[in-house]
Amino acid sequence: MNDISKPPVVNFLANPEKDHFIDGQWKPSLSGERVDSFNPANGRVLAKLARGTKDDVDVAVAAARRAFEGPWSRFTPHQRQALLIKVHDLIEKNYDELALLESLDMGAPVARTAGVKNWMLQVIMYFASQTMNCNGQTIQNSLPGNFTTMTIQAPVGVVGGIIPWNGPLMSQWWVVGAALATGCTAVMKPAEDASLTVLRTAELLIEAGVPPGVVNVVTGLGSEAGAALASHPGVDRIAFTGSTQTGREIIKASAGNMKRLQLELGGKSPDIVFADADLDKAVPGAAMAVFSNTGQVCYAGTRLFVERSIHEAFVERLVAFGKTLKVGDPLDPTVQLGPLISQRQLDRVMSYVSIGGKEGAQLASGGGRVGGALAGGYFIEPTIFSNVSNSMTIAREEIFGPVISVIPFDTADEALRLANDTEYGLGGAVWTRSVNTMTKMMHGIKAGTVWVNCYGVVDPAVGFGGYKQSGYGWKGGPQHVDGFLYQKSVCINGD
Ligand code: ADP
Repeated sequence: MNDISKPPVVNFLANPEKDHFIDGQWKPSLSGERVDSFNPANGRVLAKLARGTKDDVDVAVAAARRAFEGPWSRFTPHQRQALLIKVHDLIEKNYDELALLESLDMGAPVARTAGVKNWMLQVIMYFASQTMNCNGQTIQNSLPGNFTTMTIQAPVGVVGGIIPWNGPLMSQWWVVGAALATGCTAVMKPAEDASLTVLRTAELLIEAGVPPGVVNVVTGLGSEAGAALASHPGVDRIAFTGSTQTGREIIKASAGNMKRLQLELGGKSPDIVFADADLDKAVPGAAMAVFSNTGQVCYAGTRLFVERSIHEAFVERLVAFGKTLKVGDPLDPTVQLGPLISQRQLDRVMSYVSIGGKEGAQLASGGGRVGGALAGGYFIEPTIFSNVSNSMTIAREEIFGPVISVIPFDTADEALRLANDTEYGLGGAVWTRSVNTMTKMMHGIKAGTVWVNCYGVVDPAVGFGGYKQSGYGWKGGPQHVDGFLYQKSVCINGD
């Protein structure tokens, strides 16, 4: 299993000891310590990452600051755009290697990473387009005298990018792309479970011509390297994607120098299916709204509200669809569900499955680990609970695994009330043919994104973000770029 004989990945992993990437160079951890990173498909150590501490973060932030004040600050919008296009082309050229590395590192099936390719490249091109969009305004004033007033947008400075393990190959671009577009610099802290594609990308950025120090990577534990970055006085902004609990820690840690924050946190998103929906689309749509990436997606539609009149039939079809999905080796192109990321995550998901049963939800399918040849990895069956009530633990807490809770409802008002009865507000969806129902849900669902007759579709120019305890700040679109800029007003006395 997990043939890694493809040359570029073999080259990258020939030495499994991976250092930080700072100022355009590999730099070992100052403490000399490492943390193991595992291949989730077989539980074996894949790489030994530098264990970053505050000292390493200090070095990386200093490099990022020097780059920010140095030649990078003189890159024109056109030069940054040309650079982003070169980056795009180089990433496209090396995509197969990066995708394979991601599969080995965090278990995403190759079919999934192949599907992410175009979207990721579009995100990079979107940021290339935004280098020309960092504009202020000339504003009329009513001041007595001969004054000209305007606003200027300037890059905010050094950005700390703390990203999760559920898709670092893609998610790093929300930070790296925006930093390159706006003239900021970045210190990335990928998750200890999956850092390799972020490290390899940093190396490729240098090859594309990004000046050393513009994008740095410090690896290691969240409680050490991550916490040091979040509290660092030399960091102007943190872009964080991860759990709500860690988001709270980041808010506290960032208070020292009042960092600007963008937080994309947990979710328990409602996915609402009405009896009038096109069920041929709603069944696979609702299933993959959770089973994609083995449920390790922040906006997964894990609370599946189904109108009671079709609840039984819908669950049957959902179960049948679930059985068509292949769980297995991420490198097998016919596989749709890879392993969970870690033993810790596997234990956590299995404990929720057991809680669901104890609290009276009906296990309609799945619920077990996958054994046989896959027993060494963190594999779990796609799992469906039916007749769940919105007050059960499995409907309230984020599981981050392939577990759907199907909750019956009778009226649109009830569906809306239940959908919004959550501490989260990341996404939500409605499946219906009725314009009235669609409109009611679109306005009524309290979440950063609402999908209608689809799920999880995000255009980089539109973007997405959280509401309530799913965080704040926006990913994608002009608002994202604004977050990497600060505004100053200028008042010129012409007399
Ligand atoms: P999970 O618990 O699923 O690993 P986290 O939200 O803890 O999710 O992790 C997301 C990212 O946040 C990872 O890069 C992790 O290393 C980092 N992280 C974890 N704890 C902290 C912390 N206290 N401060 C800063 N970053 C952290």
